Amino acid sequence: MKRKPVKYFILIVLFILLLSPMAISSASQSLMLYQTNQGSLDLSEWDPDKNGIMKLDGQWEFYWEKLYTPDSFIDKDQLTAPEYIHQPRAWNKLIVNGKELSGNGYGTYRFRLLNLEDRIYGIKIPRVFTSYRLWVNGDQLASAGKVETNRSEMIPQYLPQIAYFKPVDNQVEIVIQVANFRHRSGGILDSIRFGDFEQITDMRNRAIAFDLFLFGSLFIIGFYHIILYLFRIKDRTNLYFGIYALLISARTLLVGEIFLIYLIPHFSWEFAHKIQTIAYYIGVPLVVLFMKSTFPLDVSKRLSKIIVIIGAAFSALVLFTPARIFNLVNPLYQLFTFVVISYLLYIVIKIIIKKRENSLIIGLGLLVFIIFSINDIVFLSTWMADAEHTLLRKIITRGNLSSYGLLIFVFTQSIVLAKKISKSFTTVEQLSNELKTINVSLEEKISERTKALELSRAGMYKAYQSAIESEQALVDFTQNISHDLRTPITAIKGYINGILDGIIKDEDQKKKYLLRTKDRIDQMTNMVQDLLDLSMLQTKQINFTFQRISIDKFINIISEKYSLDMASSNVTFILNQPFIRNMANQAESIVPLSDETISSLEISIDIEKLERVFANLFSNSIKYCAKQPEIMLDFELIDDFNNLVIKVTDNGIGIPPEDLPYIFDRSYKTSSNQMVDGNTSNGLGLAIVKEIIASHEGIIWVESKLGLGSCFYFTLPVHNIEKNKSR
Ligand code: ADP
Repeated sequence: MKRKPVKYFILIVLFILLLSPMAISSASQSLMLYQTNQGSLDLSEWDPDKNGIMKLDGQWEFYWEKLYTPDSFIDKDQLTAPEYIHQPRAWNKLIVNGKELSGNGYGTYRFRLLNLEDRIYGIKIPRVFTSYRLWVNGDQLASAGKVETNRSEMIPQYLPQIAYFKPVDNQVEIVIQVANFRHRSGGILDSIRFGDFEQITDMRNRAIAFDLFLFGSLFIIGFYHIILYLFRIKDRTNLYFGIYALLISARTLLVGEIFLIYLIPHFSWEFAHKIQTIAYYIGVPLVVLFMKSTFPLDVSKRLSKIIVIIGAAFSALVLFTPARIFNLVNPLYQLFTFVVISYLLYIVIKIIIKKRENSLIIGLGLLVFIIFSINDIVFLSTWMADAEHTLLRKIITRGNLSSYGLLIFVFTQSIVLAKKISKSFTTVEQLSNELKTINVSLEEKISERTKALELSRAGMYKAYQSAIESEQALVDFTQNISHDLRTPITAIKGYINGILDGIIKDEDQKKKYLLRTKDRIDQMTNMVQDLLDLSMLQTKQINFTFQRISIDKFINIISEKYSLDMASSNVTFILNQPFIRNMANQAESIVPLSDETISSLEISIDIEKLERVFANLFSNSIKYCAKQPEIMLDFELIDDFNNLVIKVTDNGIGIPPEDLPYIFDRSYKTSSNQMVDGNTSNGLGLAIVKEIIASHEGIIWVESKLGLGSCFYFTLPVHNIEKNKSR
């Protein structure tokens, strides 16, 4: 943003530089305007060094349909009386002998310059319509084409040139024969410039330099745009611009100093005229097309089509008819051009109001071009050619400004192009940067996602495995249950059949079998109840009523409940004092806890459910014991008094190591379980125990040595009252 003023400053400097050739080329035209009077001009007051070049405008002698040479003027009696024509202008519409002249015909001009200093002078002769011969003081110094009195012999040529001469007796007599049968206008339509020979040479050189500068610039620009178009066919703007610049560059060599004639001296006048006119005719729709492709929303499609059709029709006329015919329609096309220019001005205003991108700069360029083109059109118009228009000729002094206008237009266009190109480069840079960061983050994302996918795949595989496992477990469970149910059912069936079939007749026997039947039914009822309890525990459908109770109270309840039972069933029941482990001097010692401590520690339990846990563990200890059963109960505080571990140790048959991981699964029975007499196991007890402990936020595990006994451990979270109090 900060660099903007600098940028605009540089652009303005460039613009001024671009204007300088015109300033330089026109510097020599700071003219003193003298008027020739009745064919002669007294120049005693004029000093070329001070006053500069002058235009020899004013009243000249004119002899219509006479081709006089300087010799003809020696004996004046033989001459017809001259007309006086106010130069410069075409002889069209001049009244001679009561008749209005057309452009066709021939005649002789003559004027004299009096009281000149004795030095070398020069004149700059413009293009003459359309052939001439020029004498100064009797010497023929210049000519163009072939002056003849009829169309077939006369040869047209545009050839601006300069001629040098010295006055004789301080006088200069200039005689010019002009003939035209090819162009609509005849005569000398532009001023003849007169001055010191050095000034005239300088003027000519500058004019040629300017033309060649324009030609070269436009030529290169034209090519450049066409090449741009070839590389990017989508953008037609460049094509229109390129063609137009080339056409105008060609035109530059055919107007002004008409440098082409120096390159190709016999270049056909007709052909040159065609190129020059076509450059103008095609230019009009091309500018419209250019504007349309730059501002498609603002230029009417229909109107531009109509303009193109009209332009094409006129151009075709130029191509297929000779100059004297197509020249007749030129005023019509000039009128049409003014209509198009009005439309273009309207477009320029519209795009600037609508703030279209680059509208201001293109609008400005186009405006300069339009003004310069209007200059040329007026300069070349019949309206200007056919009358004196002294004032207008002071403003409009040259007919080749449109090329220059185009150059300025091209300049603004190249700014737009540069802007576009650098903008697209910036966009590309931005995009590729974004793409890079997108790529990087994409790669990161991809690797993240891949990891996540791998994880979730592993998870899914695990879930799949556990689904298979649990499905298998369900199958096993169902089979086990069916098996467990079938055994008592078969037995019951056997007993009843025995009684019904009269095999068992004895009443005592009958009673015995009926009692067995009842046992089996009780066993099945228990089993069904256990199943129901387990499934309700697992689906959290059983309500727990937790109560806070101190550890010592809890131990008392357990002791009271089971000590007597155990004693009566001939089971040795040892209940140890709660303890903690002490790791002093690297030696582990067991420290019993005081009553005070254990009364200050509480657990939150559903006492009924926990009783079931103990009942189950104890009954297993008794059930899976081959000798006199011995059960020991320990309470250990761990994790800095945060958890209580309850340990149930027995001297039973133990559990085979391969079964250890599974005994808490539902319906799992160890292979050794069969060894126990009167087996009423259904493999649901430990699964229920595990669920109850989990509901108390505890865990359960087992250690066992086959033949020696098993240790069941489970934890309960502890609430430290003292700790809470002190807080
Ligand atoms: P069950 O109704 O079969 O006793 P449990 O779930 O209570 O069902 O026990 C599962 C299995 O674990 C038992 O079948 C038994 O083989 C084994 N088991 C449980 N407790 C002990 C123990 N104290 N000593 C040896 N084996 C045990």
